[in-house]
Formats: sequence, structure tokens, C-alpha cells
Amino acid sequence: MSYIERQLIDIVGSEHVSSDLADLVPYERDDQFALVPPHRPDFVVKPSTRDEVQAIIRLANRYRIPVVPLAAGINRKGLCIPTEAGILLDLRRMNRILEVNEEMMTATIEPGVTFGQLVQEVSKTNLRVITPWAPSTVSVLANYMLRGIYGPATRYGTDHLITIEVILPNGDILQTGSAATPKGMPYCGIVNGPDLCKLFQANPGNLGVLTKGTLRLYPKPEVIKPLMTSHPNYEAMVEPAIKMTKQNLVAACWTMMFSRSALKTLTEGSILENFVDLLEGDFYTMWLYVEGDRGQAEADEKAVRKLVEGAGGTVLPIPHETEEEMIKDHVWGRTTVRGWKKGSLYGCSFYGVMKHAPKYYEATYKISLKYGFDEFHYEAVPVAPFHGQLAYNDPCILWDSGNPSEVKRIRKLHKELMKALLDVGIYGWFRPFPGVVDAAMLGKYGELWREIKRLIDPNNIMNPGKPPL
Ligand SMILES: Cc1cc2nc3c(=O)[nH]c(=O)nc-3n(C[C@H](O)[C@H](O)[C@H](O)COP(=O)(O)OP(=O)(O)OC[C@H]3O[C@@H](n4cnc5c(N)ncnc54)[C@H](O)[C@@H]3O)c2cc1C
Repeated sequence: MSYIERQLIDIVGSEHVSSDLADLVPYERDDQFALVPPHRPDFVVKPSTRDEVQAIIRLANRYRIPVVPLAAGINRKGLCIPTEAGILLDLRRMNRILEVNEEMMTATIEPGVTFGQLVQEVSKTNLRVITPWAPSTVSVLANYMLRGIYGPATRYGTDHLITIEVILPNGDILQTGSAATPKGMPYCGIVNGPDLCKLFQANPGNLGVLTKGTLRLYPKPEVIKPLMTSHPNYEAMVEPAIKMTKQNLVAACWTMMFSRSALKTLTEGSILENFVDLLEGDFYTMWLYVEGDRGQAEADEKAVRKLVEGAGGTVLPIPHETEEEMIKDHVWGRTTVRGWKKGSLYGCSFYGVMKHAPKYYEATYKISLKYGFDEFHYEAVPVAPFHGQLAYNDPCILWDSGNPSEVKRIRKLHKELMKALLDVGIYGWFRPFPGVVDAAMLGKYGELWREIKRLIDPNNIMNPGKPPL
């Protein structure tokens, strides 16, 4: 046993450290291994307290050992895959909900707390958690830190983290916002200087380890009503989507396109399977959610229907059970993840301009077909605050990562698609994925980002090989 392993055992106990091949292999790759090469850590270490995390980071910093934090491991595109081995810091034992504060409308949690866990706890109150359409096992803190995309992002945006506690790469403890004051409470992001909580957001664990976070909760609506529409093409969805967003009529507005073949695969075995046979071409649809008190929700639904029909769209009848499923998706109450068939899902999400969604969609669909992938779908979601027509966009391809020819093609496609998107002009990439975000292309901003990384982590121990490079 190495000296380092003995030290780690002293910190967390022998049952929470391993250098066994069988324990390490599950951490060496994620589902995007075709794009991010697998790499095995030397140790997996599972602390359960802030003090243990601090001692591990101090040790790693002293011996210049890379550390990759992992909160739940539902990562995609290599965010938790080591590039230089070292310590895989598995935080799943730090799964305590420290407080749900109804008065302040906040929850304070550790990084291992999952959405499933938090939603269940918060459902005992009259508040709700804003949830992604991700598996329930995803870490709330990691997801909010990375700034995810949420079912109701059109009304509630993507900014739900207020303050955090971080173990810096030298082992110091940083509290952000009001938590930094002498008897500080964690409920306010604004203190005197800059909001340092944001500095640690959209950084894939490479400035320190979050050991605690306080996040916003929201009032539970009396009514949630999903609506599904159909349109002749992508352009036809844009104007009503912009109008209903500006008028704050909907909590969620997902404009989506499904190629016929993608829809065939996705609906196989479901009650919608026969519906696909009736389609003549690709399917353009909006998934809309109105919510609020009953009177408001009814008025909003009426206005939404008018906008959709005024733009030549149709509001589709939704079977009761589908409506129930959609509501479960929206508030995170479901038990399955849909939309992931055929082995793997390629996505290259980004922020762009809502009125340009058809342009982005066309550019990416064309490339997908060029490389022989016809199981394609696309989504563009207006995100609050909507100034500048901010919209999350995601071109998605169902593909088979077990097929070497498809692996080769998806790699080529990835490069071409990224270039095409930069050429048509996007705001920026969603999440700092390695192989997607290139700080060198961001001018002074990229330079400063790298300088901040060097300043906070001079030995480059925290998740090296991830943006900013
Ligand atoms: C089927 C599916 C659907 C999905 N849908 C959505 C969706 O709708 N919206 C959405 O936002 N996401 C979605 N995702 C992505 C998923 O939610 C994210 O990958 C997830 O939020 C991050 O995964 P995780 O919580 O397991 O964190 P991890 O994978 O454990 O960590 C993610 C990153 O954060 C870093 N990190 C983790 N914990 C800490 C910490 N305590 N301190 C510092 N750094 C840390 C890690 O090093 C890594 O870089 C989906 C994923 C799947 C598989």
C-alpha cells in the first residue's frame, strides 16, 4: 500500500478508500467515451464530512495529486473523467439536507443530495424545487453549479444557487455571500463585493470542492396544465413562442422537432407508436406548461391557444395519462427517463437567439444527415430572463456507441457541427464540457478565466484537463 493511500485511510477510514481495479473501473468512462477518452483514477475516496474533504484536499495539494470531484456521477461528456489519474473524490456520502426554510424559501444541502431526495422532502411544504429533465439520481448542487436547463426555465431561468461553501485547492474554507459575515446566514448572495458564488458556477470542479449550498425554492402552483401543439415547420413555432414568453403566459415553452425516424424509435412500444405511422414527414411540436392559481392558469391557457392557432398551429388533444406523465416530468415525480433509446444520445447544446432557432436547426440537421444519422431531434427553449431572446438549444442524435463506424462518424460530425454553430453565431456553449469549450477563443475573457484558475489553484490539482485549458 502506498504512503498516500495510508494517509487517505487515516482521513476517511479503510472502507472508504480503494485502489482496487474493480472499484476504479466504474469511474473511468461515461456514456460519451467516444468523444472523451476513458482514464482510470488511482484512488477512489468517499468522505462524509467537510473536514474530511478539507484534509484530503490539503494532502492532494501538498503532493500535487489531481482531484476529480464527483457528486452523483451522472455526468456526460467526461466532466468527471480524470485526465491524469489521481484521486476520484466521490461525495455521495455527503447527502444531508441540512435545512428546508419555508420562510426564506430556501434549502441548504450537501453535494450528494439528489433531486429525488430533495423533491420528496420539499413536497412536505408548500414550496417546490426547480428540476431538470434528468434522472432523479442527479446531484442538485452539481447541477445548479453547472447551471443546467430545467423544465420550467422559460419562467424561472437557470440561476437557483444563492450561496456556497467551498474547500479551496489549498484547503482553506470559503463562504460566499451573506454566509461570509461573522454570524453569517446563507440566504443572500449579495454582501459587499462581487458575487463569488457565480465564480464557481460553470466551472467543472476545477476551482475547489463545494461542500454545501443554499438554493432557491419556489411556491408550488395550484394548477399545472401541459399543452402539446403541432406546427407545419420550425419557423411557425418561433413567433408564438416569443410572444408567450414575453407575455409571461407559460412556465415552460419547449419548441421541438423530431425526425420521423427518431420519433419511431422513441415511441416504440408506447401508446404513441401508431401515431407516427400517420405522420407524413418530420414532426414540429411545442410542449407548453401553464401554471399558477386556477383563474390565472385558465386565462393564460386561453391566451396561449389563441397565439398558437393564430400562427396556424393546432393544440393537440392529450390523453389523460399522457397529461399526468407530463406533469410528473415537470415537477419531477416520474420514475423513468425517456428519450434515450438506441444506446447513446449525442447532444451539443448551446445558447442562442430564439428567432434564429430555425437557422441553427437547419444547419445541425443537415450535418446530421450528411453523416448518415437520420434519428435527429432538436429543441429550443426560451430561458428567463428573456432579454436578447436568450434560448437554450440542443440538437440531439440517437446513435449506437457500440458500432465502430458510428463512433468514427460521430467524432467527425462533432467537429463539423461545432464549427457550423460558431459560424452561424451563437451566444455560447451550454456547460464547460472538455472538447467543446475552448477558452483560447474567448479573447480577454478566456485569458482572465485561466488567470483566475492559476491564482486559485496554482498547482492545478483540481480536475485538470477541463475548461478553462
Ligand atoms: C438522461 C439524462 C437527461 C438529462 N437531462 C438534463 C436536463 O434536462 N437538464 C440538465 O441540466 N441536465 C440534464 N442531464 C445532465 C445531468 O443532469 C448532469 O450531468 C448533472 O447535473 C451533473 O451530473 P451529476 O449531478 O451526477 O454531477 P457529477 O457528474 O458528479 O459532476 C458534474 C461536474 O461537477 C463537478 N462536481 C461535482 N460535485 C462537485 C462539488 N461538490 N464541488 C465541485 N465540483 C463538483 C464534477 O467534477 C463534474 O465536473 C441529463 C443527464 C441524463 C443522463
